[in-house]
Amino acid sequence: MRTLILNASYEPLVVVPTRRAVLLLLSGKASTVAASGLKLHSRSLTVDAPSVVLLNQFIRVPRRTMTLSRKAALDRYGHVCAYCNKYGDTLDHVIPRARGGTHSWENVLVACFRCNNLKADSLLSELGWKLPFELKAPEASAAALITMRWDVPDWEEYTRPWQYQRMQLAG
Ligand SMILES: [Zn+2]
Repeated sequence: MRTLILNASYEPLVVVPTRRAVLLLLSGKASTVAASGLKLHSRSLTVDAPSVVLLNQFIRVPRRTMTLSRKAALDRYGHVCAYCNKYGDTLDHVIPRARGGTHSWENVLVACFRCNNLKADSLLSELGWKLPFELKAPEASAAALITMRWDVPDWEEYTRPWQYQRMQLAG
């Protein structure tokens, strides 16, 4: 059994075993936001197992960079081809891998099949194409990481508003 922990700002922080979340409740460090409907038993105690708890005090957390994957890139760029703005579902290396381009957020965008084929192993400058935006690694919100790893419908309303907050495109 797992519990979603929210920062005092309601931003999702982390997922922990429910027993750890119960300790936070018992020590007064958190309050229940949503119950799981299940009970947790120990020798002396029976408690309602929380599905989501809220920390009573805000804690600062360092930001991490989102790991590049096909799914993360398609999510981030919304399946839109960076070159023609039509539907795209392939990853394109701006500087082709064959010419030393890296597989990183700074060199990867989403392209449609047609643009990807047209571009092939050319540089943008050779085709007269331009980058529509600056390529940067997105910061990972904990919410995005949690959503990727855990598929718990009860948590959606808490993670959804925060998921893409830090994944907006620059410029
Ligand atoms: Zn295209």
